Amino acid sequence: MRTVTLTHGPSVPALGQGTWYMGEDPARRADEIASLRAGLDLGLSLIDTATMYGDGAAEELVGEALQGRRDEAFIVTKVLPWEADAAGLPASVHGSLRRLRTDRADLVLLHWRGDVPLAETVEALERLVAAGDIGAWGVSNLDVEDLEDIPGQPATNQVLYNLTRRGPEFDLLPYQRAAGIPTMAYSPIEQARLLRSPALRTVAEQLGEAPAAVALAWVLRHPDVIAIPKAGTPAHVANNARAADLTLPQDTLEALDAAFPAPARKVPLEML
Ligand code: NAP
Repeated sequence: MRTVTLTHGPSVPALGQGTWYMGEDPARRADEIASLRAGLDLGLSLIDTATMYGDGAAEELVGEALQGRRDEAFIVTKVLPWEADAAGLPASVHGSLRRLRTDRADLVLLHWRGDVPLAETVEALERLVAAGDIGAWGVSNLDVEDLEDIPGQPATNQVLYNLTRRGPEFDLLPYQRAAGIPTMAYSPIEQARLLRSPALRTVAEQLGEAPAAVALAWVLRHPDVIAIPKAGTPAHVANNARAADLTLPQDTLEALDAAFPAPARKVPLEML
């Protein structure tokens, strides 16, 4: 599995696993746990979750899925902007650690920018790094002008990026590349809506690959971008894992460019 080296540190697999909406439907729980574990078997060891997802339910599911396998995973979780102040942030992260059944999260992100000054949030995160409660800190949903306000260098910026959301290519990805901040692409298959695209389906058929694998390989064509698709069945995880070994040929890239044009001007960062 290709890896991406985060700012200041560890290398993580370029393809990870998302967890939004996991842990919310008891009927899907066994499949969701099996999916995360199947992903671990395939090397998709970066698991992205958040306090917000199901109000802690996704973190609890991740904790259950990782029983006996904590050391195989790189856990990313997120703190809500209104809990990201000096007193609230450690309490929030310690709550996450309890739900995740671990004493250390590998990476904690500010979920999006709120009213708490960024300097206060970063200071609180750095205290948790120094205490060993978290391995590193990063941010999410920050556009260029917000990144310019950050005191210090985040391990990553997690943003909406896929074939139908190419805005970050205009300025955010180049800015992050120049600053040495890798990008983590969320909703990389546009919450499955992208898979209905006739253009994507046509090129996938020509390559003999699943549309999801092609969409993910397209995101992963950048050496400094990580993709975190969420898959709730082991079959979907297996489809997605194919992307890690898939290099799209030039004519495929051109067909995708024609169907999903690159931005010609600044597009404010979108958010889901
Ligand atoms: P996504 O990964 O683009 O799409 C997930 C959807 O695609 C699910 O409905 C899933 O269905 C389906 N799917 C996955 N693999 C498939 C395959 N091979 N074939 C067919 N369908 C497939 O969307 P997302 O969950 O919004 O984004 C991914 C992760 O990014 C999230 O789970 C979360 O961890 C993170 N995220 C972060 C933010 C942020 O603000 N930082 C925002 C959004 C998301 P099944 O469940 O049936 O497999």
